Amino acid sequence: AGKRTRGFLGHPRGLATLFFTEAWERFSYYGMRALLLYYMYDRVADGGLGIDNGTALSLVAVYGSAIYMAAIAGGWVSDRLLGVRRCTLYGGILIMCGHVFLALPAGTTALYVSMIFIVLGTGLLKPNISISVGDLYADKDLRRDSGFTIYYMGISIGALLAPLTVGTLGQRYDYHLGFGLAAIGMAIGLLVYVRGQRHLSEAGRRPANPLRASEIRSSRTAWPIAAAAALTVLAAAAAAVSGRLTADLVVDAVSVLSIALPVTYFTMMLRSGRTTPEERSRVLAYIPLFMAAVCFWIIQEQGAIVLAQYARQSTDLDLSGFEIPSSWFQSVGSLVLIVLAPCFAAMWLALGRRSRQPSTPAKFGMGLLFAGASYALLVIPALGEQKSGPLWLVASFALVTVGELCLSPIGLSATTRLAPAAFATQTMGIWLASGAAGQGISAQIVGFYDRGDAALYFGVIGACAVLLGLLFVIAPAVRTRTEGAEADADSRE
Ligand code: GLN
Repeated sequence: AGKRTRGFLGHPRGLATLFFTEAWERFSYYGMRALLLYYMYDRVADGGLGIDNGTALSLVAVYGSAIYMAAIAGGWVSDRLLGVRRCTLYGGILIMCGHVFLALPAGTTALYVSMIFIVLGTGLLKPNISISVGDLYADKDLRRDSGFTIYYMGISIGALLAPLTVGTLGQRYDYHLGFGLAAIGMAIGLLVYVRGQRHLSEAGRRPANPLRASEIRSSRTAWPIAAAAALTVLAAAAAAVSGRLTADLVVDAVSVLSIALPVTYFTMMLRSGRTTPEERSRVLAYIPLFMAAVCFWIIQEQGAIVLAQYARQSTDLDLSGFEIPSSWFQSVGSLVLIVLAPCFAAMWLALGRRSRQPSTPAKFGMGLLFAGASYALLVIPALGEQKSGPLWLVASFALVTVGELCLSPIGLSATTRLAPAAFATQTMGIWLASGAAGQGISAQIVGFYDRGDAALYFGVIGACAVLLGLLFVIAPAVRTRTEGAEADADSRE
Protein backbone atom coordinates (compact mmCIF):
# COMPACT_ATOMS: atom_id res chain seq x y z
CA ALA A 1 0.00 0.00 0.00
CA GLY A 2 1.15 3.52 -0.69
CA LYS A 3 2.22 5.93 1.99
CA ARG A 4 0.42 9.22 1.73
CA THR A 5 3.31 11.27 3.06
CA ARG A 6 5.74 12.89 0.63
CA GLY A 7 3.93 11.42 -2.32
CA PHE A 8 3.75 12.35 -5.97
CA LEU A 9 0.63 14.29 -6.97
CA GLY A 10 -1.36 12.67 -4.18
CA HIS A 11 -0.01 9.24 -5.08
CA PRO A 12 2.66 6.96 -3.62
CA ARG A 13 6.20 8.17 -4.14
CA GLY A 14 7.08 5.16 -6.28
CA LEU A 15 4.77 6.50 -9.00
CA ALA A 16 7.35 9.22 -9.71
CA THR A 17 10.08 6.59 -10.19
CA LEU A 18 7.91 4.61 -12.61
CA PHE A 19 6.62 7.73 -14.36
CA PHE A 20 10.10 9.01 -15.21
CA THR A 21 11.64 5.62 -15.96
CA GLU A 22 8.86 4.84 -18.42
CA ALA A 23 8.94 8.35 -19.91
CA TRP A 24 12.62 7.84 -20.77
CA GLU A 25 12.10 4.30 -22.02
CA ARG A 26 9.29 5.47 -24.33
CA PHE A 27 11.46 8.42 -25.37
CA SER A 28 14.10 5.96 -26.58
CA TYR A 29 11.49 3.71 -28.22
CA TYR A 30 9.46 6.32 -30.08
CA GLY A 31 12.63 8.24 -30.98
CA MET A 32 14.09 5.16 -32.60
CA ARG A 33 10.72 4.45 -34.27
CA ALA A 34 10.53 7.95 -35.68
CA LEU A 35 13.80 7.34 -37.53
CA LEU A 36 13.67 3.64 -38.26
CA LEU A 37 11.63 3.61 -41.46
CA TYR A 38 13.58 6.42 -43.09
CA TYR A 39 16.89 4.91 -41.96
CA MET A 40 15.93 1.59 -43.52
CA TYR A 41 14.89 2.80 -46.94
CA ASP A 42 17.11 5.85 -47.42
CA ARG A 43 19.89 5.33 -49.94
CA VAL A 44 23.28 4.29 -48.58
CA ALA A 45 24.71 7.54 -49.93
CA ASP A 46 22.23 9.43 -47.74
CA GLY A 47 23.22 7.54 -44.63
CA GLY A 48 20.49 4.89 -44.84
CA LEU A 49 20.56 1.16 -45.50
CA GLY A 50 18.94 1.16 -48.93
CA ILE A 51 16.35 -1.49 -48.04
CA ASP A 52 13.44 -1.79 -50.50
CA ASN A 53 10.52 0.48 -49.49
CA GLY A 54 7.81 -2.19 -49.26
CA THR A 55 10.01 -4.51 -47.22
CA ALA A 56 10.88 -1.66 -44.87
CA LEU A 57 7.18 -0.88 -44.24
CA SER A 58 6.31 -4.50 -43.45
CA LEU A 59 9.36 -4.89 -41.26
CA VAL A 60 8.35 -1.90 -39.14
CA ALA A 61 4.82 -3.33 -38.68
CA VAL A 62 6.07 -6.79 -37.84
CA TYR A 63 8.68 -5.39 -35.47
CA GLY A 64 6.00 -3.41 -33.60
CA SER A 65 3.82 -6.46 -33.26
CA ALA A 66 6.74 -8.66 -32.11
CA ILE A 67 7.71 -6.16 -29.43
CA TYR A 68 4.27 -6.32 -27.79
CA MET A 69 4.03 -10.08 -28.23
CA ALA A 70 7.34 -10.50 -26.42
CA ALA A 71 5.64 -8.98 -23.38
CA ILE A 72 3.94 -12.33 -22.73
CA ALA A 73 7.34 -14.03 -22.55
CA GLY A 74 8.62 -11.20 -20.35
CA GLY A 75 5.68 -11.77 -18.02
CA TRP A 76 6.47 -15.45 -17.78
CA VAL A 77 10.15 -14.83 -16.97
CA SER A 78 9.02 -12.40 -14.27
CA ASP A 79 6.37 -14.60 -12.64
CA ARG A 80 8.44 -17.77 -12.74
CA LEU A 81 12.14 -16.87 -12.78
CA LEU A 82 13.34 -13.38 -12.00
CA GLY A 83 10.63 -11.22 -10.45
CA VAL A 84 9.50 -7.75 -11.44
CA ARG A 85 12.51 -5.68 -10.43
CA ARG A 86 15.24 -7.69 -12.10
CA CYS A 87 13.16 -8.02 -15.28
CA THR A 88 12.70 -4.26 -15.49
CA LEU A 89 16.40 -3.65 -14.92
CA TYR A 90 17.68 -6.30 -17.36
CA GLY A 91 15.08 -5.23 -19.91
CA GLY A 92 16.28 -1.64 -19.73
CA ILE A 93 19.89 -2.73 -20.19
CA LEU A 94 18.99 -4.83 -23.25
CA ILE A 95 17.04 -1.91 -24.75
CA MET A 96 19.95 0.45 -24.19
CA CYS A 97 22.33 -2.01 -25.89
CA GLY A 98 19.85 -2.28 -28.78
CA HIS A 99 20.02 1.48 -29.36
CA VAL A 100 23.84 1.43 -29.01
CA PHE A 101 24.02 -1.09 -31.89
CA LEU A 102 22.09 1.34 -34.08
CA ALA A 103 24.31 4.19 -32.98
CA LEU A 104 27.30 2.34 -34.45
CA PRO A 105 27.75 2.73 -38.20
CA ALA A 106 27.56 -1.04 -38.67
CA GLY A 107 24.89 -1.51 -41.33
CA THR A 108 22.18 -4.12 -41.70
CA THR A 109 23.67 -6.66 -39.29
CA ALA A 110 23.61 -4.07 -36.51
CA LEU A 111 19.96 -3.32 -37.37
CA TYR A 112 18.87 -6.94 -36.97
CA VAL A 113 20.93 -7.45 -33.80
CA SER A 114 19.41 -4.26 -32.42
CA MET A 115 15.90 -5.47 -33.23
CA ILE A 116 16.48 -8.69 -31.29
CA PHE A 117 17.79 -6.77 -28.27
CA ILE A 118 14.90 -4.30 -28.32
CA VAL A 119 12.22 -6.99 -28.74
CA LEU A 120 13.66 -8.99 -25.81
CA GLY A 121 14.32 -5.90 -23.70
CA THR A 122 10.92 -4.30 -24.21
CA GLY A 123 9.28 -7.69 -23.66
CA LEU A 124 10.99 -7.80 -20.26
CA LEU A 125 10.58 -4.18 -19.24
CA LYS A 126 7.14 -3.11 -20.41
CA PRO A 127 4.85 -5.60 -18.58
CA ASN A 128 6.99 -5.44 -15.46
CA ILE A 129 7.09 -1.70 -15.13
CA SER A 130 3.32 -1.56 -15.73
CA ILE A 131 2.63 -4.19 -13.09
CA SER A 132 4.80 -2.20 -10.63
CA VAL A 133 2.34 0.68 -10.86
CA GLY A 134 -0.48 -1.59 -9.71
CA ASP A 135 1.72 -2.89 -6.87
CA LEU A 136 1.87 0.60 -5.39
CA TYR A 137 -1.79 0.37 -4.41
CA ALA A 138 -3.63 -1.87 -1.98
CA ASP A 139 -6.43 -3.90 -3.56
CA LYS A 140 -9.12 -1.50 -2.42
CA ASP A 141 -7.22 1.71 -3.10
CA LEU A 142 -9.39 3.82 -5.41
CA ARG A 143 -6.45 5.92 -6.58
CA ARG A 144 -5.44 3.10 -8.93
CA ASP A 145 -7.20 4.28 -12.15
CA SER A 146 -6.01 7.79 -11.47
CA GLY A 147 -2.44 6.57 -10.85
CA PHE A 148 -2.36 4.65 -14.12
CA THR A 149 -3.64 7.74 -15.92
CA ILE A 150 -0.75 9.80 -14.54
CA TYR A 151 1.69 7.03 -15.46
CA TYR A 152 0.24 7.06 -18.99
CA MET A 153 0.97 10.76 -19.16
CA GLY A 154 4.66 9.89 -18.60
CA ILE A 155 4.47 7.57 -21.62
CA SER A 156 3.07 10.40 -23.72
CA ILE A 157 5.66 12.95 -22.60
CA GLY A 158 8.35 10.56 -23.83
CA ALA A 159 6.41 9.90 -27.03
CA LEU A 160 5.93 13.61 -27.71
CA LEU A 161 9.51 14.75 -27.15
CA ALA A 162 11.20 11.84 -28.93
CA PRO A 163 10.39 12.66 -32.57
CA LEU A 164 11.23 16.31 -31.99
CA THR A 165 14.70 15.57 -30.55
CA VAL A 166 15.89 12.11 -31.62
CA GLY A 167 14.01 12.47 -34.90
CA THR A 168 15.37 15.91 -35.71
CA LEU A 169 18.95 15.04 -34.73
CA GLY A 170 18.81 11.86 -36.81
CA GLN A 171 17.27 13.44 -39.90
CA ARG A 172 19.09 16.77 -39.86
CA TYR A 173 22.56 15.53 -38.90
CA ASP A 174 23.16 11.81 -38.77
CA TYR A 175 21.01 8.76 -38.11
CA HIS A 176 23.55 7.24 -35.76
CA LEU A 177 23.65 10.39 -33.63
CA GLY A 178 19.87 10.17 -33.31
CA PHE A 179 20.00 6.52 -32.23
CA GLY A 180 22.79 7.48 -29.83
CA LEU A 181 20.46 9.98 -28.18
CA ALA A 182 17.86 7.22 -27.81
CA ALA A 183 20.49 5.11 -26.02
CA ILE A 184 21.29 8.01 -23.69
CA GLY A 185 17.57 8.41 -22.94
CA MET A 186 17.30 4.77 -21.90
CA ALA A 187 20.45 5.14 -19.77
CA ILE A 188 18.83 8.04 -17.90
CA GLY A 189 15.71 5.92 -17.42
CA LEU A 190 17.82 3.14 -15.91
CA LEU A 191 19.46 5.59 -13.53
CA VAL A 192 16.09 6.91 -12.41
CA TYR A 193 14.91 3.36 -11.84
CA VAL A 194 17.94 2.20 -9.86
CA ARG A 195 17.88 5.27 -7.63
CA GLY A 196 14.12 5.17 -7.05
CA GLN A 197 13.69 1.42 -6.55
CA ARG A 198 13.38 1.73 -2.78
CA HIS A 199 9.99 3.41 -3.23
CA LEU A 200 8.59 0.36 -5.00
CA SER A 201 6.76 -2.67 -3.61
CA GLU A 202 8.99 -5.28 -1.95
CA ALA A 203 7.02 -8.02 -3.69
CA GLY A 204 8.86 -7.24 -6.93
CA ARG A 205 12.08 -8.70 -5.55
CA ARG A 206 10.83 -12.26 -5.99
CA PRO A 207 8.98 -14.13 -8.74
CA ALA A 208 5.24 -14.48 -7.99
CA ASN A 209 5.12 -18.20 -8.71
CA PRO A 210 8.70 -19.52 -8.84
CA LEU A 211 9.42 -22.42 -11.15
CA ARG A 212 9.96 -25.58 -9.10
CA ALA A 213 12.72 -28.08 -9.84
CA SER A 214 10.12 -30.82 -10.23
CA GLU A 215 8.37 -28.84 -12.97
CA ILE A 216 11.59 -28.43 -14.89
CA ARG A 217 12.14 -32.18 -14.73
CA SER A 218 8.60 -33.06 -15.76
CA SER A 219 8.47 -32.59 -19.48
CA ARG A 220 4.75 -31.74 -19.57
CA THR A 221 5.29 -28.02 -19.94
CA ALA A 222 8.52 -28.11 -21.92
CA TRP A 223 7.44 -30.48 -24.69
CA PRO A 224 4.62 -28.53 -26.34
CA ILE A 225 6.71 -25.36 -26.29
CA ALA A 226 9.77 -27.08 -27.75
CA ALA A 227 7.63 -28.80 -30.39
CA ALA A 228 5.96 -25.53 -31.42
CA ALA A 229 9.31 -23.74 -31.61
CA ALA A 230 10.85 -26.56 -33.65
CA LEU A 231 7.89 -26.55 -36.05
CA THR A 232 8.13 -22.79 -36.51
CA VAL A 233 11.86 -22.96 -37.23
CA LEU A 234 11.34 -25.88 -39.65
CA ALA A 235 8.53 -24.09 -41.48
CA ALA A 236 10.60 -20.93 -41.77
CA ALA A 237 13.61 -22.91 -43.01
CA ALA A 238 11.48 -24.77 -45.57
CA ALA A 239 9.96 -21.50 -46.77
CA ALA A 240 13.39 -19.89 -47.02
CA VAL A 241 14.86 -22.83 -48.95
CA SER A 242 11.94 -22.94 -51.39
CA GLY A 243 12.28 -19.20 -51.92
CA ARG A 244 8.79 -18.52 -50.57
CA LEU A 245 9.81 -16.63 -47.43
CA THR A 246 8.47 -13.32 -48.63
CA ALA A 247 7.68 -10.27 -46.57
CA ASP A 248 3.97 -11.01 -47.14
CA LEU A 249 4.35 -14.43 -45.62
CA VAL A 250 6.12 -13.04 -42.56
CA VAL A 251 3.40 -10.42 -42.15
CA ASP A 252 0.64 -13.06 -42.40
CA ALA A 253 2.44 -15.32 -39.96
CA VAL A 254 2.78 -12.51 -37.44
CA SER A 255 -0.91 -11.63 -37.85
CA VAL A 256 -1.96 -15.22 -37.15
CA LEU A 257 0.45 -15.53 -34.23
CA SER A 258 -0.70 -12.26 -32.70
CA ILE A 259 -4.19 -13.75 -32.34
CA ALA A 260 -3.26 -17.36 -31.63
CA LEU A 261 -0.93 -16.43 -28.77
CA PRO A 262 -3.46 -14.67 -26.51
CA VAL A 263 -6.13 -17.30 -27.28
CA THR A 264 -3.74 -20.06 -26.21
CA TYR A 265 -2.70 -18.15 -23.14
CA PHE A 266 -6.24 -17.45 -21.95
CA THR A 267 -7.10 -21.14 -22.40
CA MET A 268 -4.03 -22.17 -20.45
CA MET A 269 -4.75 -19.73 -17.65
CA LEU A 270 -8.36 -20.89 -17.34
CA ARG A 271 -7.32 -24.55 -17.19
CA SER A 272 -4.35 -24.17 -14.87
CA GLY A 273 -4.62 -25.73 -11.43
CA ARG A 274 -2.99 -22.58 -10.05
CA THR A 275 -6.03 -20.48 -10.97
CA THR A 276 -8.66 -20.54 -8.22
CA PRO A 277 -12.38 -20.72 -9.18
CA GLU A 278 -12.84 -17.06 -8.21
CA GLU A 279 -9.86 -16.06 -10.33
CA ARG A 280 -11.26 -18.09 -13.20
CA SER A 281 -14.44 -16.02 -13.22
CA ARG A 282 -12.32 -12.86 -13.21
CA VAL A 283 -10.39 -14.11 -16.25
CA LEU A 284 -13.69 -14.79 -18.01
CA ALA A 285 -14.83 -11.27 -17.20
CA TYR A 286 -11.53 -9.92 -18.50
CA ILE A 287 -11.80 -11.52 -21.95
CA PRO A 288 -14.42 -9.08 -23.37
CA LEU A 289 -12.25 -6.20 -22.17
CA PHE A 290 -9.30 -7.70 -24.01
CA MET A 291 -11.33 -8.01 -27.21
CA ALA A 292 -12.52 -4.42 -26.97
CA ALA A 293 -8.90 -3.34 -26.54
CA VAL A 294 -7.86 -5.22 -29.68
CA CYS A 295 -10.58 -3.38 -31.63
CA PHE A 296 -9.48 -0.07 -30.17
CA TRP A 297 -5.82 -0.58 -31.17
CA ILE A 298 -6.87 -1.51 -34.71
CA ILE A 299 -8.02 2.10 -35.10
CA GLN A 300 -5.51 3.84 -32.85
CA GLU A 301 -2.41 2.19 -34.35
CA GLN A 302 -3.59 3.08 -37.87
CA GLY A 303 -2.90 6.68 -36.91
CA ALA A 304 0.70 6.03 -37.89
CA ILE A 305 -0.27 4.16 -41.07
CA VAL A 306 -3.54 5.11 -42.79
CA LEU A 307 -3.88 8.56 -41.23
CA ALA A 308 -0.20 9.25 -41.90
CA GLN A 309 -0.97 8.43 -45.53
CA TYR A 310 -4.11 10.59 -45.46
CA ALA A 311 -2.04 13.47 -44.09
CA ARG A 312 0.36 13.21 -46.98
CA GLN A 313 -2.04 12.49 -49.84
CA SER A 314 -5.36 14.06 -49.00
CA THR A 315 -4.73 16.94 -46.60
CA ASP A 316 -4.07 20.51 -47.58
CA LEU A 317 -0.77 21.13 -45.80
CA ASP A 318 -0.26 24.66 -46.99
CA LEU A 319 -0.83 27.07 -44.12
CA SER A 320 -0.69 30.45 -45.85
CA GLY A 321 2.73 29.74 -47.30
CA PHE A 322 4.02 27.44 -44.54
CA GLU A 323 4.15 23.78 -45.46
CA ILE A 324 3.12 21.67 -42.43
CA PRO A 325 5.36 18.55 -42.21
CA SER A 326 2.98 15.61 -42.43
CA SER A 327 4.82 13.83 -39.63
CA TRP A 328 3.74 16.53 -37.15
CA PHE A 329 0.27 15.01 -37.04
CA GLN A 330 1.83 12.09 -35.16
CA SER A 331 2.42 14.38 -32.18
CA VAL A 332 -1.17 15.60 -31.92
CA GLY A 333 -2.31 12.55 -29.94
CA SER A 334 0.50 12.79 -27.37
CA LEU A 335 -0.08 16.50 -26.94
CA VAL A 336 -3.82 16.09 -26.38
CA LEU A 337 -3.14 13.23 -24.01
CA ILE A 338 -0.72 15.25 -21.88
CA VAL A 339 -3.19 18.11 -21.61
CA LEU A 340 -6.19 15.92 -20.79
CA ALA A 341 -4.57 13.21 -18.63
CA PRO A 342 -4.50 15.34 -15.45
CA CYS A 343 -8.20 16.16 -15.96
CA PHE A 344 -9.05 12.48 -16.33
CA ALA A 345 -6.85 11.49 -13.36
CA ALA A 346 -8.59 14.14 -11.24
CA MET A 347 -12.01 13.08 -12.51
CA TRP A 348 -11.50 9.42 -11.53
CA LEU A 349 -10.28 10.58 -8.09
CA ALA A 350 -13.18 12.99 -7.63
CA LEU A 351 -15.79 10.39 -8.57
CA GLY A 352 -14.45 8.23 -5.75
CA ARG A 353 -16.26 5.01 -4.93
CA ARG A 354 -16.48 2.49 -7.73
CA SER A 355 -20.26 2.48 -7.55
CA ARG A 356 -20.26 6.19 -8.43
CA GLN A 357 -17.90 5.76 -11.39
CA PRO A 358 -18.73 4.46 -14.83
CA SER A 359 -17.87 0.74 -14.72
CA THR A 360 -14.75 -0.53 -16.48
CA PRO A 361 -16.76 -1.96 -19.43
CA ALA A 362 -18.55 1.39 -19.73
CA LYS A 363 -15.20 3.21 -19.84
CA PHE A 364 -14.04 0.74 -22.49
CA GLY A 365 -17.26 1.32 -24.41
CA MET A 366 -16.59 5.05 -24.34
CA GLY A 367 -13.07 4.37 -25.62
CA LEU A 368 -14.52 2.52 -28.62
CA LEU A 369 -17.18 5.20 -29.19
CA PHE A 370 -14.53 7.90 -29.39
CA ALA A 371 -12.32 5.77 -31.64
CA GLY A 372 -15.28 5.12 -33.93
CA ALA A 373 -16.17 8.80 -33.93
CA SER A 374 -12.60 9.70 -34.90
CA TYR A 375 -13.02 7.66 -38.07
CA ALA A 376 -16.64 8.58 -38.72
CA LEU A 377 -15.69 12.26 -38.58
CA LEU A 378 -13.26 11.81 -41.47
CA VAL A 379 -16.07 10.62 -43.74
CA ILE A 380 -17.11 14.28 -44.14
CA PRO A 381 -13.85 15.67 -45.60
CA ALA A 382 -13.18 12.41 -47.45
CA LEU A 383 -16.47 12.84 -49.35
CA GLY A 384 -15.39 16.28 -50.54
CA GLU A 385 -13.75 16.91 -53.87
CA GLN A 386 -10.80 18.96 -52.63
CA LYS A 387 -8.07 18.14 -50.17
CA SER A 388 -9.33 18.44 -46.60
CA GLY A 389 -8.25 21.09 -44.15
CA PRO A 390 -5.64 20.01 -41.55
CA LEU A 391 -8.05 20.61 -38.66
CA TRP A 392 -10.10 17.55 -39.63
CA LEU A 393 -7.12 15.32 -38.90
CA VAL A 394 -6.29 17.22 -35.72
CA ALA A 395 -9.86 16.71 -34.52
CA SER A 396 -9.74 13.05 -35.47
CA PHE A 397 -6.50 12.48 -33.52
CA ALA A 398 -7.96 14.38 -30.56
CA LEU A 399 -11.07 12.16 -30.52
CA VAL A 400 -9.17 8.88 -30.63
CA THR A 401 -6.93 10.16 -27.84
CA VAL A 402 -9.91 10.90 -25.58
CA GLY A 403 -10.88 7.28 -26.28
CA GLU A 404 -7.36 6.15 -25.41
CA LEU A 405 -7.65 7.88 -22.03
CA CYS A 406 -10.93 6.08 -21.32
CA LEU A 407 -9.54 2.70 -22.28
CA SER A 408 -5.79 2.24 -22.10
CA PRO A 409 -4.88 3.38 -18.55
CA ILE A 410 -8.10 1.82 -17.26
CA GLY A 411 -7.17 -1.44 -18.99
CA LEU A 412 -3.75 -1.44 -17.28
CA SER A 413 -5.47 -0.83 -13.98
CA ALA A 414 -8.12 -3.52 -14.52
CA THR A 415 -5.40 -5.98 -15.53
CA THR A 416 -3.63 -5.53 -12.20
CA ARG A 417 -6.93 -6.10 -10.37
CA LEU A 418 -8.34 -9.03 -12.31
CA ALA A 419 -5.17 -11.09 -12.99
CA PRO A 420 -4.82 -14.46 -11.20
CA ALA A 421 -2.01 -14.19 -8.61
CA ALA A 422 0.14 -16.91 -10.18
CA PHE A 423 -0.04 -15.16 -13.56
CA ALA A 424 0.18 -11.53 -12.46
CA THR A 425 2.83 -10.25 -14.85
CA GLN A 426 1.88 -12.66 -17.61
CA THR A 427 -1.60 -11.19 -17.66
CA MET A 428 -0.02 -7.77 -18.09
CA GLY A 429 1.91 -9.31 -20.98
CA ILE A 430 -1.40 -10.41 -22.49
CA TRP A 431 -2.81 -6.91 -22.04
CA LEU A 432 0.11 -5.50 -24.03
CA ALA A 433 -0.39 -8.27 -26.58
CA SER A 434 -3.79 -6.68 -27.33
CA GLY A 435 -1.67 -4.02 -29.04
CA ALA A 436 0.15 -6.75 -30.99
CA ALA A 437 -3.14 -8.31 -32.10
CA GLY A 438 -4.54 -4.91 -33.05
CA GLN A 439 -1.50 -4.24 -35.22
CA GLY A 440 -1.56 -7.80 -36.56
CA ILE A 441 -5.19 -7.34 -37.71
CA SER A 442 -4.47 -3.82 -38.97
CA ALA A 443 -1.69 -5.23 -41.14
CA GLN A 444 -4.44 -7.14 -42.98
CA ILE A 445 -6.99 -4.30 -43.10
CA VAL A 446 -4.84 -1.38 -44.22
CA GLY A 447 -4.45 -2.98 -47.64
CA PHE A 448 -8.10 -2.08 -48.32
CA TYR A 449 -7.44 1.61 -47.88
CA ASP A 450 -7.52 3.53 -51.10
CA ARG A 451 -7.58 7.32 -51.35
CA GLY A 452 -10.50 7.14 -53.79
CA ASP A 453 -12.66 5.13 -51.37
CA ALA A 454 -11.43 6.76 -48.17
CA ALA A 455 -14.95 7.76 -47.07
CA LEU A 456 -16.16 4.17 -47.31
CA TYR A 457 -13.12 2.88 -45.42
CA PHE A 458 -13.51 5.37 -42.56
CA GLY A 459 -17.29 4.95 -42.52
CA VAL A 460 -17.35 1.16 -42.26
CA ILE A 461 -14.62 0.87 -39.62
CA GLY A 462 -15.96 3.85 -37.67
CA ALA A 463 -19.51 2.45 -37.64
CA CYS A 464 -18.32 -0.98 -36.44
CA ALA A 465 -16.42 0.62 -33.56
CA VAL A 466 -19.36 2.82 -32.58
CA LEU A 467 -21.75 -0.16 -32.55
CA LEU A 468 -19.35 -2.23 -30.48
CA GLY A 469 -18.85 0.69 -28.11
CA LEU A 470 -22.60 1.05 -27.60
CA LEU A 471 -22.78 -2.63 -26.84
CA PHE A 472 -20.24 -2.21 -24.06
CA VAL A 473 -21.88 0.85 -22.59
CA ILE A 474 -25.35 -0.71 -22.44
CA ALA A 475 -25.13 -4.51 -22.76
CA PRO A 476 -26.00 -5.94 -19.36
CA ALA A 477 -24.29 -9.31 -19.99
CA VAL A 478 -20.78 -7.91 -20.28
CA ARG A 479 -21.33 -5.35 -17.57
CA THR A 480 -22.71 -7.53 -14.82
CA ARG A 481 -20.00 -10.12 -15.29
CA THR A 482 -17.15 -7.64 -15.12
CA GLU A 483 -18.72 -5.52 -12.43
CA GLY A 484 -19.31 -8.62 -10.30
CA ALA A 485 -15.73 -9.74 -10.77
CA GLU A 486 -14.43 -6.27 -9.92
CA ALA A 487 -16.56 -5.90 -6.80
CA ASP A 488 -15.25 -9.26 -5.76
CA ALA A 489 -11.65 -8.26 -6.54
CA ASP A 490 -12.17 -5.12 -4.47
CA SER A 491 -13.37 -7.08 -1.47
CA ARG A 492 -10.08 -8.96 -1.23
CA GLU A 493 -7.88 -7.89 1.62
N1 GLN B 1 1.03 3.79 -26.74
C1 GLN B 1 1.11 3.12 -25.50
C2 GLN B 1 2.53 2.84 -25.11
O1 GLN B 1 3.44 3.01 -25.87
C3 GLN B 1 0.30 1.84 -25.48
C4 GLN B 1 0.68 0.88 -26.53
C5 GLN B 1 -0.13 -0.38 -26.49
O2 GLN B 1 -0.54 -0.87 -25.44
N2 GLN B 1 -0.41 -0.92 -27.63
O3 GLN B 1 2.79 2.42 -24.02
